[in-house]
Amino acid sequence: MDSLWNAPIYGLSQQDKERLLLARLNELTRWHSEHCPSYNTLLEGSDLNLDAEEYCEVLPLAVQLFKLARLSSIADDEVFKTITSSGTSGAKSQIILDRANAALQSKALVKIMQSWVGRARLPMLLIEQSNLIAQRSGFSARGAGALGLSFMGRDHCYALDDKMQPNWPVIEAFVKAHQNQPVLIFGFTFMLWQYLLKPLAEQGVSLDLSQAIIFHSGGWKKLQHLSVSSEEFNQQCEASIGSNQVHNFYGMAEQTGSIFVSCEHGHLHCPIFSDILIRNPVNLAPSPMGEPGLIQVFSSLAQSYPGQSILTEDIGIWLGDDDCPCGRKGRYFKVLGREQKAEVRGCSDTFS
Ligand SMILES: [Zn+2]
Repeated sequence: MDSLWNAPIYGLSQQDKERLLLARLNELTRWHSEHCPSYNTLLEGSDLNLDAEEYCEVLPLAVQLFKLARLSSIADDEVFKTITSSGTSGAKSQIILDRANAALQSKALVKIMQSWVGRARLPMLLIEQSNLIAQRSGFSARGAGALGLSFMGRDHCYALDDKMQPNWPVIEAFVKAHQNQPVLIFGFTFMLWQYLLKPLAEQGVSLDLSQAIIFHSGGWKKLQHLSVSSEEFNQQCEASIGSNQVHNFYGMAEQTGSIFVSCEHGHLHCPIFSDILIRNPVNLAPSPMGEPGLIQVFSSLAQSYPGQSILTEDIGIWLGDDDCPCGRKGRYFKVLGREQKAEVRGCSDTFS
């Protein structure tokens, strides 16, 4: 893990990065096979061994498994917190974290974010309700996401009131205090659109935060229903907030910390802590560059639960390695959306 911490976030060639990451993934596979009986059952049921030589040889767990079972590699009295993520079908994933794993996630997230926004903590506008943070008992993925990133900013300002309406006096005070300086704006893609960009456009008002760096995450599904493209979203950010520094990011509660951030060319970049592989949705064979398929995500951070290799239900395209025009090395990709008839598949077949 040290060699990963010491490497630049987007500076290694794909070949060098894969070598380091695979060594760590194999270490995690061994650890989880020894400490999580359910994981060991799955590994033994597959024809894969402990030492993968390529990403495609690392056992992928279907993301659904985290909804069906409590997968943990730590003793109950070491559980620091459990992150839950609500699925579309209502079942919730449970991610079991000990103190060390939670710290690892925060540290990685900070390192990744610092490479995009610098080391200084910036004033931060969150497109969230302020009472969200108080609801710690029901620690939701949305809350975890907001909390994870709120760590990056200072003078936090929550833009929405308890009725999910823009809290205009609060927003105006934030703009007045931080005009002409870099600020962070964070929101879920749909919430940013629905509860800030749209009301601003309707009122013909612009926030005048030209140095804002905008981060948003969450699927495009709800926006596709409203026929809003990513181009239109970015244009509206520029029109209503005055900034063209807009970054989407892709990540999941099952691998908090190792997020994928989009560059100025709209490509999602794999940081040193994680990587992706695209698989054919029908036969699960690794897909070549340019071909849409299921996204498999790898994370070097999953220590207290076996989440180092997860087959998601999201469809994406591997766009390239090492040659994005932005200059960042490593793999880059885009996400097309959720698979239509996502279901339990792959390695979960052997799970009982
Ligand atoms: Zn790029």
